[in-house]
Amino acid sequence: MDSDFCTLVDFHCHLDLFPDHVSILEECERMKIETLAVTNAPSVFPRNQGLSKNLRYVHTALGLHPQLAFERQSEVKLFEEYLVHTRFVGEVGLDASAGYTQTLGIQRQIFQQVLNLCAIAGGKILSVHSRRSSQEVIDQIGNLLPSDKGRVILHWFTGTKTQARQAVQVGCFFSVNRRMLESTQGRELVLSIPFERILTESDGPFIRTGNHPTKPRDVMGTVEMLAKLWEADAVTTLIRLQNNLQTLLS
Ligand code: MN
Repeated sequence: MDSDFCTLVDFHCHLDLFPDHVSILEECERMKIETLAVTNAPSVFPRNQGLSKNLRYVHTALGLHPQLAFERQSEVKLFEEYLVHTRFVGEVGLDASAGYTQTLGIQRQIFQQVLNLCAIAGGKILSVHSRRSSQEVIDQIGNLLPSDKGRVILHWFTGTKTQARQAVQVGCFFSVNRRMLESTQGRELVLSIPFERILTESDGPFIRTGNHPTKPRDVMGTVEMLAKLWEADAVTTLIRLQNNLQTLLS
């Protein structure tokens, strides 16, 4: 392994929602944690990207979270404007859980626009939310962002094994967090996905590890859970994850 190789991979974290945002950025860099810092609205992207611009290991993504689609719909213009400044997009997607079904119309409109803009631009990497909308998200990706035009990571995927197989067929990767690995159903789902398509994520601060919000460095616990599931040791698991990330980025 060359010395520039990362140690951990946290490819979905809301770093800007931590009170100690700047010190976590420094820690990711010091510990060489390949981190995808997702954002929830285009208006916060410039500040976040500014904070990470000299960092090798933190990649800032331009996002418009589906739960904010209604309130932030006017920011689609900013999304379009800023897209040229980053290779990474997220958090975007659809959310059909209770409380958000009434905004599905605007969510769908924005998600389709995001996929179309990314297809035109080419070479983008997207972190996608698909809560209670797995099938539609996979279908939209298959239709609007084929794998030669961009790459998609399904974040915290909770669809069926059949849907996971369809997502693999359209080229998706999956970022897996500790909560997914805590249930039998989640572990079976992850085990049904080819290991070459798996990455890890913290989804901090929304997921907790013990009594604190999960930070990028806590992903080591998720690596250990994955290692157990794959019946591999932690080092082999880390190398797999690193290789998968290199494939995604290549
Ligand atoms: Mn998230």
